[in-house]
Amino acid sequence: MKVKKLVTWGGITLGALGMGLAIKSLLPQRFLTDDWVERKPSQPLDTASFPEVEVSFLRCGSITIPEPIAVRGAFTLAPRVMTHSAVLIGHPKALFLYDTGLSSEIDTYLVDQSLFFRKTLGHFQLEQTLGSHLKERGIERSDLDFVLLSHLHWDHVSGIPDIRGVPLRINRVEYEAAKLCLLDAGNGLVQRLLGDNPIEFFDCAGPTYEGFRSSFDVFGDGSIILVPLPGHTAGNTGMFVNRSNGPRLFLLGDAAWVSQNYLRPTTMHPFIWSRVTSDDATARQTLIDLHYYALRHPEIPLIAMHDAELQEKFMKSERHIQAVGRYT
Ligand SMILES: [Zn+2]
Repeated sequence: MKVKKLVTWGGITLGALGMGLAIKSLLPQRFLTDDWVERKPSQPLDTASFPEVEVSFLRCGSITIPEPIAVRGAFTLAPRVMTHSAVLIGHPKALFLYDTGLSSEIDTYLVDQSLFFRKTLGHFQLEQTLGSHLKERGIERSDLDFVLLSHLHWDHVSGIPDIRGVPLRINRVEYEAAKLCLLDAGNGLVQRLLGDNPIEFFDCAGPTYEGFRSSFDVFGDGSIILVPLPGHTAGNTGMFVNRSNGPRLFLLGDAAWVSQNYLRPTTMHPFIWSRVTSDDATARQTLIDLHYYALRHPEIPLIAMHDAELQEKFMKSERHIQAVGRYT
């Protein structure tokens, strides 16, 4: 009888503890922002001397999740659309992609993944493959000069089977870290997606750039600048696009999922965050860096690669600029 009672109370206590942890995981996160210094907007950069650069988000797939999954502490169950996208960049010196979206063959690559993976992170609605987007624009594989990969998670390299042969530019830090585990995880999923596309490494070994620790100037003209945004993965790489024919743009890879992650700031739900983040403390520091940067530069859209809302907003403004034929 005594044992039975003990087991019952033990069960109740564990249940209450579990419930408490579940509720806590949904509450807003403390980033101790109370004593943060208020940052005033900085003087915007004069972009008149930069080249004209065309930027298009190619939305390949999506998944709709409740907002608290993407934004810890969001008090709403409103659906939030997360995209799988590539970004096509038309620069006078090169036509290239930032990340790759999804290929027409993606299902065949995911078929041997665990059921849990396929029902969670690997679950999405395929909308338009990378190959189809390129075809629609009359772009052949051979027209692409290279692909810049923000990082090596499967969902950012999943369009590569549609562009076999195109060189992949990868942050050396990212590749070295991925060799330790990521490339071979899930029956070598990432390695298989990379296939035998040529790999070229780059290093963000240039000077600090607008508060970020180091940089890499892709064309040497200040128009395409890569900066490290580590934590999500060791070498997650952000990309600034500085141009004369539209607003400056800052692509974040997966340093955030949606804008609220750096605006509040807050991580995604801790269960997901812990599964997708390689270094918790560093990833939080990156969110803080982006938080300050967003405050100092309200004129620059900071767009994460899964943020459907900001990507749509950006494309709408691009279409408007093209329709009126000028950007001021
Ligand atoms: Zn991702």
